[in-house]
Amino acid sequence: MAKTIQAIRGMNDCLPQDTPLWQWLEAVVRRVLTSYGYSEIRMPIVESTPLFKRAIGEVTDVVEKEMFTFDDRDNESLTLRPEGTAGCVRAGIEHGLLYNQEQRLWYMGPMFRYERPQKGRYRQFHQIGVEVFGIAQAEIDAELILLTARLWKALGIADHVSLQLNSIGSLEARHNYRQALVDFLQNHLAILDDDCKRRLTTNPLRILDTKNAQIQAVLNDAPKLHDYLDDDSKQHFARLCAILDQMGITYEINQKLVRGLDYYNKTVFEWVTTALGAQGTVCGGGRYDGLVEQLGGHATSGVGFAMGVERLILLVQEVNQSLSLPAAVDIYVVHSGEQATLQAFNVAEQLRAVCPQKNVMLHCSGGNFKKQFKRADKSGAVFAVVIGEEEVQNGQLVVKDLLGRTQQQTLPTAEAIRFLAQNV
Ligand code: ATP
Ligand code: MG
Repeated sequence: MAKTIQAIRGMNDCLPQDTPLWQWLEAVVRRVLTSYGYSEIRMPIVESTPLFKRAIGEVTDVVEKEMFTFDDRDNESLTLRPEGTAGCVRAGIEHGLLYNQEQRLWYMGPMFRYERPQKGRYRQFHQIGVEVFGIAQAEIDAELILLTARLWKALGIADHVSLQLNSIGSLEARHNYRQALVDFLQNHLAILDDDCKRRLTTNPLRILDTKNAQIQAVLNDAPKLHDYLDDDSKQHFARLCAILDQMGITYEINQKLVRGLDYYNKTVFEWVTTALGAQGTVCGGGRYDGLVEQLGGHATSGVGFAMGVERLILLVQEVNQSLSLPAAVDIYVVHSGEQATLQAFNVAEQLRAVCPQKNVMLHCSGGNFKKQFKRADKSGAVFAVVIGEEEVQNGQLVVKDLLGRTQQQTLPTAEAIRFLAQNV
């Protein structure tokens, strides 16, 4: 036998036994987003590399070490998108969706990051992202958070996620704070690990969310970003918190939450869980009022978030006990004999017409009834329809309850179809 070829490390197949859960989750999310008046946008998976460098920032983890970048045949540098915001902004500018307009957009699809694969962290993973353009007010930040809270309820995970919130202020405020933080950390160089030492010159704010407990302890005495915020950001944050309080959304203000991408300002937030070990962030986002202009558009406010679908799936599997997914097959049609097979095609088509929400599988691989019933059981169907020569001659169908809840019945064809339509 030839040597088999395997999937690329960190890039997973979603197998048939798992797709019903994915489809359910996607449908729930689509419904909730649509119910808030958001529209779907679909962007390419590959974009030109400078887009991400400019949007995300040259000295972020994502751009420095996580991008899948390659040259195409014309030596243009392309990148498999590591996130959706940059491409969404690019598309918005390119198609004139942003200038002087309000847009509430969402997308879902694969993202790519060259990371060390582990539970909840993959090289190809999926995000559902939401981006709102043209609204500067804190009301929209609040709407996004309310929307996510509704989503967690609909997914049955609301009791297992909590909201972390912060404001990182204007670029200028962050600049001032950055200097104060660096000055403070210069006095604690001895305890910084290599990663943090590197970040001290490249991206010092990221040191705030180090996992290193010793450094975290020292950071408790570091200057607080909140004390450096500009008035506009302070007011914006106060307004957001007031709406969330009013709407009964609980949150924790986490002064160390800064998020990994360069484009954020003012509001940043994360929904985190303790149920998934180290990969605890299921959703993260914030405001990025400078990004559109930075990418060549007219100045336009922006705010958005992205959630990791794999982590949400893991969380649903972990905590949502009441989830029951629709069966792949509801009715399995078995048959034996030339005429019976033709009649089976007819009956299966009629059933699909009468109950379009139900799933009807027609046996197609021959064999005796015993083999066919084995397949029917394996399919998960709750009813089998049986057609032999005798049934064809009498214009009847046998309806067999595969779960044994009701007696097997032989009914005239039309009546049997009616029975199934009502009872499946
Ligand atoms: P983390 O700190 O876990 O690396 P991040 O800050 O890099 O997350 P974002 O860029 O904010 O993540 O992406 C939003 C969400 O996408 C994350 O909260 C997470 O749920 C998911 N996500 C990010 N990277 C991965 C990955 N490699 N595999 C699976 N999900 C991911
Ligand atoms: Mg990351």
